[in-house]
Amino acid sequence: MSLTVRATYPTSCCPLCGGVSSSIHSHYRRRLSDASCVGRKVQLCLTIRRFYCRNRLCERKVFTERFPRFAKPWARMTIRLSEHLQAVGLATSGRGGIRLAVRLGMQTDRQTLLRRIMALPDLPEESVLYVGIDDFAFRRGQRFGTVLVNLETHHIVDLLPDRQAVTAAAWIKPHPEIMVVSRDRGGEYAKAAAMAAPQATDVADRFHILKNLTEALQLLLGRSLEEIKLASQTPEPHQDTSSKAVITVEEWRPKEPTHVQRARLARRSGRYARYQQMVELRGTCG
Ligand SMILES: [Zn+2]
Repeated sequence: MSLTVRATYPTSCCPLCGGVSSSIHSHYRRRLSDASCVGRKVQLCLTIRRFYCRNRLCERKVFTERFPRFAKPWARMTIRLSEHLQAVGLATSGRGGIRLAVRLGMQTDRQTLLRRIMALPDLPEESVLYVGIDDFAFRRGQRFGTVLVNLETHHIVDLLPDRQAVTAAAWIKPHPEIMVVSRDRGGEYAKAAAMAAPQATDVADRFHILKNLTEALQLLLGRSLEEIKLASQTPEPHQDTSSKAVITVEEWRPKEPTHVQRARLARRSGRYARYQQMVELRGTCG
């Protein structure tokens, strides 16, 4: 859908001195993509006027009229289309975003979508008291960067091009307000925190604490496998049933409904049959 449009204001302001002028110098045409209408792509053929600046002290003799709420100078799309693409790009990503935009009547490509997102202004710089630091992959398994997160606002505050202690320390150093550095288990970020933020408490984040715990438990259970097997085979020592403080697992567990029990037993017998089949097949192969 192509529409021919022009501004109807009789005057325009010089962008340099702000003086109002109604003296038209000339016209030219510009093509702009606009937000879709009933699912169809919209192209605007915009007639733009050039005005004389009548301020004798102004260096600009001729200026082009501006549409600050409608389109930026030199842009090839309107501000509203740009905002729609930004919203699609932020809500989805890459190819998914392109498919959705095209479906909504906005012709675009990957680069345009990325440029719209990159054009978004950065968040204002904020003081960071609790910073989370971890690595991320530019290319999985090959190139890594560092992400820094404000743990109070959950905003990403910066991205660093690598995961070396020196780079991270250079970022932390000008932030003496940092009270806590939450990091992974690696040595690089610990080194960075020790170098650049000696005043801060250095902690491992929840994910890495759980990872530590999981690994320690696996190791412990692996070492104690024999003892666990032995304990499960020996009969339980006689317990004083008069004491109400200790209850058995069977007492504690709520009684299983019959239909649940039947389903569980059916699943188990299926699994056992498959196991038996595997044992037999292994016997014939060996
Ligand atoms: Zn002027």
